[in-house]
Amino acid sequence: MLVLVLNAGSSSLKYSVRRFDPAQPFTGGVRIAKGIVEQIGAGEVADHLQAFDIVSGELAEVLGGRTVDAVGHRVVHGGERFTGPALIDNEIIRAIEQLNELAPLHNPPGVQCLRAATRAWPKVAQVAVFDTSFHRTLPEPVWRYALPDELYRRYGIRRYGFHGTSVDYVGRRAADLLGVPWEKFDGVIAHLGNGASVTAVNHGRSVDTSMGFTPLEGLVMGTRSGDVDPGVLVFLLRKGYDAEELDSLLNRDSGFKALAGHNDMRVITEAAAAGNEEAELALETAAHRLARYIGGYHVACTGAQAVVLTGGIGENSAPFRARLLAKLGPLGISLDAAANEDATGAEEGLRISTPDSAIPVLVIPTDEERAIAEATLALVGTP
Ligand code: AMP
Repeated sequence: MLVLVLNAGSSSLKYSVRRFDPAQPFTGGVRIAKGIVEQIGAGEVADHLQAFDIVSGELAEVLGGRTVDAVGHRVVHGGERFTGPALIDNEIIRAIEQLNELAPLHNPPGVQCLRAATRAWPKVAQVAVFDTSFHRTLPEPVWRYALPDELYRRYGIRRYGFHGTSVDYVGRRAADLLGVPWEKFDGVIAHLGNGASVTAVNHGRSVDTSMGFTPLEGLVMGTRSGDVDPGVLVFLLRKGYDAEELDSLLNRDSGFKALAGHNDMRVITEAAAAGNEEAELALETAAHRLARYIGGYHVACTGAQAVVLTGGIGENSAPFRARLLAKLGPLGISLDAAANEDATGAEEGLRISTPDSAIPVLVIPTDEERAIAEATLALVGTP
């Protein structure tokens, strides 16, 4: 069976095709093709529809007359409705479209690709997999903001959480590595990429997460601020900023980019090592905030059996991991420096804490596209 995964980001469209053995559908299959269209809206490719045409052209070449058996779509926001992957039909597409307002940067490209793909391959089963659905288990005291209920009822203002597909995937691998059934796994999982969040998992369920109503809350990210006092926004409004300017300030001109002048962790850690004070401050700010969340989430998950690091930074930046673990001493965690160097780029999960640490810290590579392909197959079924 061939499963195509489409992942529409705000300015990119990634695809991959995996071949599955129907007798063993949950071994991840084998990836037989992948590609990406970038700089959508900023270069030659005007929008996601045009990007989709490019992708379907490439696919026709790669597949040489074969058709895929199913398509899995990554959708960022599933609102309150979607607690898991959904088989696409027109009603589902409309329901996802209604959520565009909640994720104006991230959902519309996904919806455009959903529509284009169902038009292009009307007979192929298609599935939407949501970044939010893993967090539908958040308890109400966690998902509530201390705001008037009216705002929740009228606008759906509450915490939703994101990165769920990745957290679910690496969490299960961590539980496997520890020999604990997923339903009994308690841990703290940090997905550290250009976007970054931490999640507390209790008995295999999300019980707290650092991203909220939008993917802006929480950690210091590549270009996003993470937590700021909402009073700052009111102050800036009074100074004459408008909604677009605030949006762009918080989403595109903040985070590492604001603090260090750059959003690539490699560049920042090299600059810090060479004595650049701004880079050093940026790393300390990000590591401090992350360590503080991990401490809090150790409590929220009722005592972590593991702390798990994943995403571009979690998987590849040994200096940032070392800086983080240096702050986790109060949790009984210390760094195994040699293991930390080995963990970079390792295909399987690796422990980077010393064997006598009270909580093991694991580096586990994420694979959202594989997770989406498996979820798609699970819903579509095998012949
Ligand atoms: P992601 O969004 O998960 O693809 O992560 C992207 C981020 O990971 C980049 O912005 C970099 O900061 C970071 N990253 C990727 N590769 C490396 C590397 N080899 N060393 C340090 N950081 C890296």
